[in-house]
Amino acid sequence: MPEIQKIDLAITGAHILTIDEGMKEYNPGTIYITGNRIVWIGNDTEQPENCKVHEKIDATGKIVMPVFFNGHNHASMSFLRGLGNDLSLDKWLNDFIWPAEKVMINPDTVYLGTMLSVIEMIRSGTGIFSDMYFFEDQVARVCEESGMRGIIGEAIFDFPSPSRATPAESIQFTRDLHKQFINHSLINVSVSVHAPYTCSPNFIRQAGELAEELDISANIHLAETNNEIETIAGLYGKSPVQHLHDLGFLSERTVAHHSVYLTPDDRQLLKETGTSVVTLPNSNMKLGSGACAVGELLKSGINVALGTDGPASNNHQSMLREIQQLARLERVVNFDPTSISARELIRIATINGARAYRLDKDLGSLECGKKADFQIINPDQPHWYPRYDPYNSIAYAMQSNDVESVIIDGKIVMLNRILVNIDEMRIFRELKKKAGMLF
Ligand SMILES: [Zn+2]
Repeated sequence: MPEIQKIDLAITGAHILTIDEGMKEYNPGTIYITGNRIVWIGNDTEQPENCKVHEKIDATGKIVMPVFFNGHNHASMSFLRGLGNDLSLDKWLNDFIWPAEKVMINPDTVYLGTMLSVIEMIRSGTGIFSDMYFFEDQVARVCEESGMRGIIGEAIFDFPSPSRATPAESIQFTRDLHKQFINHSLINVSVSVHAPYTCSPNFIRQAGELAEELDISANIHLAETNNEIETIAGLYGKSPVQHLHDLGFLSERTVAHHSVYLTPDDRQLLKETGTSVVTLPNSNMKLGSGACAVGELLKSGINVALGTDGPASNNHQSMLREIQQLARLERVVNFDPTSISARELIRIATINGARAYRLDKDLGSLECGKKADFQIINPDQPHWYPRYDPYNSIAYAMQSNDVESVIIDGKIVMLNRILVNIDEMRIFRELKKKAGMLF
């Protein structure tokens, strides 16, 4: 008699969008999970025999797809949400954010702010985020407590940060974090350089070398505003992309956030080096920075992922809203409704993020052997009817509240809109106390 296989969690009856290379679907389909991995995925009618299922979710009539991959965030800036709106990036940073961070940001506020953002992200179907900020050990703590997956990166720049006195300390702290979380199932570490205009060539070079030595990703804000282009041209006589390339920073492990102002030569350099781009449409629109030419980048073979940026420059954490805004922004800029398809938008928000951070062996699509990170969506809502194409519904009509349950690393972190590991009211109460809210 064949051996009985132990299945920890089974999802049955769902319309599964795998987002694999061929965009395969199973309807109705089943996913079997053992530990944190998918051990079987396929049609309901082909379920393997001799399996003993411990826990089962009947997802009949629901849609199952990978969690959204938030490619760039400063999650705990939810603590500063609402400060200094309606300003350009340089005014917003210099007059509001950096002075506020000096007095308000400490390990407690980073913990609370990150927890608040993680609540918002899980509730809208995001299961992983890449974070660049301070006290990143607290961000890791939030991931461990909430069950959220995170890529953590202590921000490196030339002046003292709220957590480290020098860029050398931030680089050392990145090394320490890497050592601490090297085999962690939820946490990865990235080298996070703030920007070419806040970090000296010496430290950009060192940061790139560190990423290479530790074999981890490196990420940076790049070519975000016209002001940055002028500053870098004045300092070094070249574009920010060329500047980073000359410092040896661009490679397949590099993730460039924003990339709004790129020359054809810059685009060629990003492509040649295998650098990925994370586009952040709402942040760019709110700060009046411009628009990343996403369709053009994709056509030239550059991997483009999607993120929310921090909650103080957006001001929300829903990847779904980013997808829907990106779809519209792209058309406004190009006068071309064909520049990105609904399917491409979903890939940008899932597998392309995993590819950018070189985690696509495990994450970003639903395939046998990959980690079990997915969301269960309830399409029994007026804006889903009639249902001709699920990708179109997600890209143009779905709402965050339609996300019913979220599974990360094989574990249920939200079931029927209830967060399993987080006491939301406690977080709201503590935030209210700490932030001195006006209402
Ligand atoms: Zn950012």
